[in-house]
Amino acid sequence: MNAQLTLFPTTPATKKKRPRRTHPSVPELPATTIPAALLRAADWILLNSSGGKDSQAMASHICALAAKLGLLHRVVIVHADLGTIEWEGTRALAQEQARRLGVRFEVVRAEGGDLLARTLARFVKLKAKAEQTARDEGRDPATAKAAPAFPSASARWCTSDLKRGPIRKLITRLVAELGDLGRPARILNCLGQRAAESAPRARLATVEIDRPASNSRRHITTWRPIHGWTDAMVWKEIARSGLPYHEAYDWGMSRLSCSFCVLGCEADVVLAARLRPRKAAEYAAVEKTVGTDFKHGLSMRQIIERARALDTEHGKPARPPHGTAMARVVGKKATRRYLALTERGRLDLAA
Ligand code: SF4
Repeated sequence: MNAQLTLFPTTPATKKKRPRRTHPSVPELPATTIPAALLRAADWILLNSSGGKDSQAMASHICALAAKLGLLHRVVIVHADLGTIEWEGTRALAQEQARRLGVRFEVVRAEGGDLLARTLARFVKLKAKAEQTARDEGRDPATAKAAPAFPSASARWCTSDLKRGPIRKLITRLVAELGDLGRPARILNCLGQRAAESAPRARLATVEIDRPASNSRRHITTWRPIHGWTDAMVWKEIARSGLPYHEAYDWGMSRLSCSFCVLGCEADVVLAARLRPRKAAEYAAVEKTVGTDFKHGLSMRQIIERARALDTEHGKPARPPHGTAMARVVGKKATRRYLALTERGRLDLAA
């Protein structure tokens, strides 16, 4: 991980950021919010897939619409590979979902290390900054306290560094593939975010222009096609599609992506620590180095203690039958039909 420590300069930046200017051709508002019109207008329909249930429900839903409109050739599923911090098999699952849907699949990966490597690199930078500030103010730099290095709700650099940034690079490549259109390329960037997930997500628009990512060469419209969907609607769509879903849901996880999400609920991160004790120990080691908790108000050390206590009381979690998560929502009969539609190998979550 030492190689990652050069990711950020150690000297605090003094230059003021210039306000970002958006190209005048970029519209303020989307021309339409009608699904078929959005799809028809797009040169590329980009489906962001974490491999999780919301992304896959969105993907099968949009692919069904695109197929009806004869637009499947414009669809690309992109997965931002997070390395070993995401559940094992996630990338392969996203790829398999794309294969079954008959659309192009792309994987992107951030340069410069995974979430833990970046947390360590940020710590070095933040510590240097705190020490410099202390010196400037005539205080002892040894007593300077660095800002938290782990990402959080208010400093969610993990999403921008590990997902959004690499996906924007893919968009640049896709736009180049189109050649000269005599106008800016139109990218429909589809996200599986839902209002039901959280209050901040509920405030997001269903359709909006991504002005910061748009320029004279590309206009990007962000579309959240399942923004108003409930959990039940998501599981019904998965049952209808027959696409395989990740086994982590059967074990009891409510969300996928990083096994240990800084914004995840306690039940999820404790369960993840029971299923991936070695990865939990890696987080705990980083936590010790950077001197702040992995999660606001809940350290990885505490999470591991709770996971161990549960293992002592109940034994190691037993592998649940495939379809467990779905059956809870759509019932056993519909789940049996779904399982007949999709057959896949088991994934080793303990890796
Ligand atoms: S899953 Fe959580 S920790 Fe991982 S990138 Fe997303 S917000 Fe950050």
